[in-house]
Amino acid sequence: MTAPTLPSDRSEGSGPSRRDGAAPRDSAGLIRAEESVLAPNYHPLPVVVARAEGAWVEDVEGRRYLDLLAGYSALNFGHRHPVLVEAAHRQLDRLTLTSRAFHNDRLAGFAERLAALTGQEMVLPMNTGAEAVESAVKVARKWAYDVKGVPEDRATIVVAADNFHGRTTTIVGFSTDDTARAGFGPFAPGFRVVPYNDLAAIEAAVDATTAAVLLEPVQGEAGVIVPDDGYLAGVREITRRAGCLFVADEIQSGLGRTGSTLAVDLEDVTPDLVLLGKALGGGIVPVSAVVGRRDVLQVLGPGTHGSTFGGNPLAAAVGSAVVGLLETGEYQRRAAELGIVLRDGLAPLVGRGVVAFRTRGLWAGVDVDPALGTGREIGERLLAEGVLVKDTHGSTIRIAPPLTITEDQLHGALTALARVLTSG
Ligand SMILES: *Cc1c(COP(=O)(O)O)cnc(C)c1O
Repeated sequence: MTAPTLPSDRSEGSGPSRRDGAAPRDSAGLIRAEESVLAPNYHPLPVVVARAEGAWVEDVEGRRYLDLLAGYSALNFGHRHPVLVEAAHRQLDRLTLTSRAFHNDRLAGFAERLAALTGQEMVLPMNTGAEAVESAVKVARKWAYDVKGVPEDRATIVVAADNFHGRTTTIVGFSTDDTARAGFGPFAPGFRVVPYNDLAAIEAAVDATTAAVLLEPVQGEAGVIVPDDGYLAGVREITRRAGCLFVADEIQSGLGRTGSTLAVDLEDVTPDLVLLGKALGGGIVPVSAVVGRRDVLQVLGPGTHGSTFGGNPLAAAVGSAVVGLLETGEYQRRAAELGIVLRDGLAPLVGRGVVAFRTRGLWAGVDVDPALGTGREIGERLLAEGVLVKDTHGSTIRIAPPLTITEDQLHGALTALARVLTSG
């Protein structure tokens, strides 16, 4: 695997100090600076990225790495996809923000294309994934009161254990991950947690107060947990019978990652609301959305919900270009085809450093033998081999390359993984 020459503008320097005429800071200096001035809510791998293209990133010393995290799937189309960068540049030169106090000439086209792509009717544009989840919680509750007739303040939402839906106080309140929750209460009531991949538990949890069942079609942060065949169709059937909404959080699983536009497509399931984020902004701007049924989203009247930046023309232009890429079907196809290469590359490692793994499209959760080290330590050894991955829990690493990665690059990364696991 050979690294291409990345666009470089060394005169810009690699740190803020260059402008003062001081010496540019190296990786170690920038990491020390970050550690002294940034709230310590992250523990990044010790690499300082300065530029990137496609599946490659380059650090401030000019070392190159294959990016197998792809911004937690925000970079499904790779770094700086030319079509997306072009759309952003063109929009930057025309109009960037109006707020929804006024209309803008980019929003309607974006929403029409996104609704058509996902087979839904209406779009509620937001910015981050957590905001899309919060918006869906609000919509589901309002729908429960206005349409289903649930008594005021009694609406419940059924969620799955080991979920990851974001970081706001309401959302971490129904997380089962103590690291995400502890110390942030008191939490909003109205959520019922059931085991994932357990239809009987959902059946038992829904009742006349249930506004929605909210879950990830594949649990990403939990370690790429793929439910049994028939689970999503079963959730659809139970929610239909119970007269509550099915809300699918496709913020990580959606937009090509699993080999189809949405992960629910693999079971021919149409949820009432679908949450999108991450890749919707093409790795350029934060863009999220709730897409869903007209009779559900229209419970939001003027003034009941909003966002200063939601639906801004720059986001809409980039989001529209993202939808344009997905309309070709090329990225979904690549994810499906390269997903087979990924699966076939991981299979021989079982028993040779890998305890178990799960894949869905170009997305894998790999449980490494804990005797070889934590996920973090494996990540550090892969970093030394020129491959970037992120651990999830314990000894599980997640592999989610840009869907633009070539087969050769993927083979190279898998060879590096095999080397790390067998030399451990
Ligand atoms: C990342 C993620 C979120 C939160 O998105 P942010 O943009 O970080 O707020 C929500 N749900 C899922 C499934 C995610 O993977």
